[in-house]
Amino acid sequence: MAVAVFKEMSYRLPSSEEVVVAIYKVLREHGTVDTQRRLREEVLRELRAWDDGYTVSEERVRMLAARANFARVDVHSREGGKKARACPVCGGDLRRVKNRSLWGDEVTVGYTCETCSYRGGMRQRVPTRYVFHLDERRR
Ligand SMILES: [Zn+2]
Repeated sequence: MAVAVFKEMSYRLPSSEEVVVAIYKVLREHGTVDTQRRLREEVLRELRAWDDGYTVSEERVRMLAARANFARVDVHSREGGKKARACPVCGGDLRRVKNRSLWGDEVTVGYTCETCSYRGGMRQRVPTRYVFHLDERRR
């Protein structure tokens, strides 16, 4: 009797801790990784050395890198039309940066992320590229 064997491609999601360890290894090796796509490729290569069914998205790698205390993310962006709401790097909450005008009024001049080191102006920035650096002074 013939038995059909269906080989399933089963993808598994690594834990956040595993992804962070992989990001650290990649940044230790390269110092700087100049696109999000490239960081994800390198991180995936590390993860697959541990489990070849692992997969991870670019966004997840970026958000975990932005929140890691050994990495710095530089955002190249253009100004969008909307008012800033959430951090364009890690999705975290934004805090208003206020200043006093000449007349003593408090005015919002921009935003800073409460989770990562992102700072931005009044308008939502539309990220066009992310650059990742090893930055161990943040530890
Ligand atoms: Zn952020």
